[in-house]
Amino acid sequence: MLLVKNGRVIDPVTKTDAVRDLLLDGDKISEVAPPGKISAEQRAEVFDATGLIVAPGFIDLHAHLREPGQESSETIETGTRAAARGGFTAVCCMPNTKPVHDSASITRFILDKAKNASTRVWPIGAASLGSKGEAIAEIAAMKQAGIVAVSDDGKPIATAKLARQVMDYCNSLDIPVIEHAEDVSLAAGAVMREGVRSTRLGLPGMPAVAESVCVARDVQLAELTGARLHIAHLSAKASLDQVRWAKSRGLRVTCEVTPHHFTLIDEDVTYDSRFKMNPPLASREDREALLAGLADGAVDAIATDHAPHEAALKDVEFDRAPFGILGFETALGLALEQLVHSGRLNLMRMIELFTTGPARILGLERRLAQGQPADLTIFSTDHEWTYRINDSLSKSRNSPFDGRKFKGGPVATIVAGRTTFQAS
Ligand SMILES: [Zn+2]
Ligand SMILES: [Zn+2]
Repeated sequence: MLLVKNGRVIDPVTKTDAVRDLLLDGDKISEVAPPGKISAEQRAEVFDATGLIVAPGFIDLHAHLREPGQESSETIETGTRAAARGGFTAVCCMPNTKPVHDSASITRFILDKAKNASTRVWPIGAASLGSKGEAIAEIAAMKQAGIVAVSDDGKPIATAKLARQVMDYCNSLDIPVIEHAEDVSLAAGAVMREGVRSTRLGLPGMPAVAESVCVARDVQLAELTGARLHIAHLSAKASLDQVRWAKSRGLRVTCEVTPHHFTLIDEDVTYDSRFKMNPPLASREDREALLAGLADGAVDAIATDHAPHEAALKDVEFDRAPFGILGFETALGLALEQLVHSGRLNLMRMIELFTTGPARILGLERRLAQGQPADLTIFSTDHEWTYRINDSLSKSRNSPFDGRKFKGGPVATIVAGRTTFQAS
């Protein structure tokens, strides 16, 4: 048993924001009470959370753990250790592994590897075989084996016809379809966002509509099929307008935004490949729209799109480098900096974007109450620290945030009653 004492408990579902003690028994929460009211003290180990925030466990809907097949960039073990240090208790891993996760045998492989991981691992299966966009993957068998959603992430579901078929199928299985929204004809050859900055750098640019026309296609298909559609790493104002329209019509359409898209913009891009991700860093106006959506509820979740690449792949010229950056260990620091300390969001709303928001998309409910899973994220809002890439628990080093100073971050991560990260 573990008694988490005197923390400021913030739970977006019950709208709790009060100092409470929490008793964890095995993998469940067994009691939540005002300080000093839980009498298990002699029997339980005590974690003193005085001055800290105690939240439901953070869930990352979007990450690349690279296993199987790219273990030189990350493994399930190293990736989840980095995730736990970032405060995450559950990580959804994308299927663009080698081979692509498009069958139940790979679902089982991932879940087996994840048995002793530092977070829960919830695999996402491919929508199409090999994510090639031709034939639908073995979705029912993968669902049976444990996937929580499907996606062809890395690229969009290739055609409207296939997207419709996948949505129909996933609707009957009651799992969400997660779309990497990109019109590949508009995005072909691009390495950053199209605009003044791409012209100045002489790099091929991808226009914002490359994302939003795909979102428009999928929103209409979601209306036709009634499916649960989730837009991954939404970066453009025009895409968010589509999501707002879908929500106003009562469609089951949701979206996530990454910390790098609400922090950085295209003007920050240099020839350094650590600024290369897909979708690329967007315009100042797009970023303002994302911040507004994070505040007013149009955005449902913060997801990292943690995308490790070993140095041999990433440390090359900008146009040759693969897309993607690390995300787990800087997510909370960036959210506190950009959303909370800036006064744009209150802590309750930020926590919702990391916890109940993503849980709802997966059809789960997460709150701090008796009988719920003992998954907790305990963090500080004021301790000052510097992100040092060489101390990262990830196997890779591709982050543009090396050396950034943060105010507040994870202090302890508890997964099913087990402490998988504790700040020293
Ligand atoms: Zn993607
Ligand atoms: Zn991704």
